[in-house]
Amino acid sequence: MYDPLISAHPGGLSYPDSYWVDTAGEAPADDGPVQADIDVDVAVIGGGYTGLSAAYYLASEHNIDTVVLEANGTGWGCSGRNGGFALKAGGRLSYQKMIKRYGETMARRMFDEIFEGLDRVRGLIKDEQIDCDQQPDGHLWVAHRPRMMKAIHSEARFLKDFFDYDVDILSREELEKDHFTSDEAYGAMRFRDGFGVHPLKLAYGYHRLARAAGSRVHTNSPVIEWRREGKRHLLVTPGGVVRANKVICATNGYTSQQLHSKLKNRSFPVLSNVVVTRPLTDTELSATNFVSSDVITDTRTLRFYYRKLPDNRILIGGRSAITGADASNPKHNDNLINALKTKFGALGDLTYDYQWGGWVCVTFDDVPHIHEAEQDSVFYAIGYGGSGVTFSVQAGMRLAEKVAGKTQDHDLPVLRTAAPKFPFAPFRRVGQRALYHYYFARDEKA
Ligand SMILES: Cc1cc2nc3c(=O)[nH]c(=O)nc-3n(C[C@H](O)[C@H](O)[C@H](O)COP(=O)(O)OP(=O)(O)OC[C@H]3O[C@@H](n4cnc5c(N)ncnc54)[C@H](O)[C@@H]3O)c2cc1C
Repeated sequence: MYDPLISAHPGGLSYPDSYWVDTAGEAPADDGPVQADIDVDVAVIGGGYTGLSAAYYLASEHNIDTVVLEANGTGWGCSGRNGGFALKAGGRLSYQKMIKRYGETMARRMFDEIFEGLDRVRGLIKDEQIDCDQQPDGHLWVAHRPRMMKAIHSEARFLKDFFDYDVDILSREELEKDHFTSDEAYGAMRFRDGFGVHPLKLAYGYHRLARAAGSRVHTNSPVIEWRREGKRHLLVTPGGVVRANKVICATNGYTSQQLHSKLKNRSFPVLSNVVVTRPLTDTELSATNFVSSDVITDTRTLRFYYRKLPDNRILIGGRSAITGADASNPKHNDNLINALKTKFGALGDLTYDYQWGGWVCVTFDDVPHIHEAEQDSVFYAIGYGGSGVTFSVQAGMRLAEKVAGKTQDHDLPVLRTAAPKFPFAPFRRVGQRALYHYYFARDEKA
């Protein structure tokens, strides 16, 4: 598997054998690989949600000539591999920690920025009629141990007091009646907004929008070298050189260490693995009463995320492998399917049909950064953690504003500051391993 901390670029790879690829239908028409030298105003590196939405807004709202350069196929990175949880979220910092760090006024503005992401995605899906199997709203945060109900009640109180935001607290019995019966669910908090989507279809939707607005999307066009010619950027791809006045790095968790010095050691790619089971039989569906189409996370720090898909399969994902070399070790898939069987004892014979993994992008301070790394010249957006389905499009819109010189919210930390460098960067994975052991022991305590 491509490993951003080791390989120079991700070019030349096919899509993973994922459920999403199997069910997305034909990829939309694109502009093919770069086949000759190109001059353009803005080049966007990376054809995921961030890059495609930036290209869409650049063309549609700012009338700026833009090309997207994607190493492989559209949505080949996280955008075509994620769980499809569209939530009011962005980055990994909890709301309460955000208030502690930034103070109440600034934290509120950060929340507004994050929350706008969900509205933006919802609006685009509706207004632009993006066919992405959008599910009804509902996000369950399930107590995986009885002791976690205390945390759920406390979070619900905080959300009400601080945002006047109402959630529903469900008892175990209410969960069983309206959602599913699980051996590892002691109650839950239910957010009334947030929904499941088909993530690759969503990426295809943004791709179509970007092209319809006038941007070009070159697939199979990895940037293998980045040179300067005066103020201009020369992005070398196998088929030709793209000369651009400005460059957006929308490579996120797939950013190699070599891509640009201003991005080196400023993010940490963390693997998340997913399996999708075979469809549940009628007997299994009634044994679990799995009637819910809500997206679900549990209260572990190393949380599992899961949902029933429209064809009655279950998708479950979580953190597991540390390195790209270990990603295909079957033990990581076994961990996920065993976690599912622990949650649903009635599914003892369940097998999976699909498994894959992808690189989630984490920053040192756990918040995203949408940054102008070189004045009026190089821009990037990184670090949504496992919560980028909605924030990526907010970031794409903000990147387009910055490139067009129209940013208004300069003082928001996520829009103003560079992602901090990781101290002791070469030892990031050693620290990660130790943390996983610690969190695992804490999560599994009775
Ligand atoms: C398994 C998994 C599950 C997840 N589940 C969820 C979820 O349910 N909800 C949620 O909110 N978030 C989830 N996330 C996170 C979310 O998917 C990401 O935050 C989001 O998709 C990031 O989009 P992006 O466009 O910034 O990056 P990506 O989609 O990763 O796109 C980056 C692109 O850059 C390209 N690239 C890199 N280097 C080069 C180069 N040199 N030249 C050209 N192209 C290059 C790559 O090929 C890649 O396609 C999940 C992530 C993973 C891995």
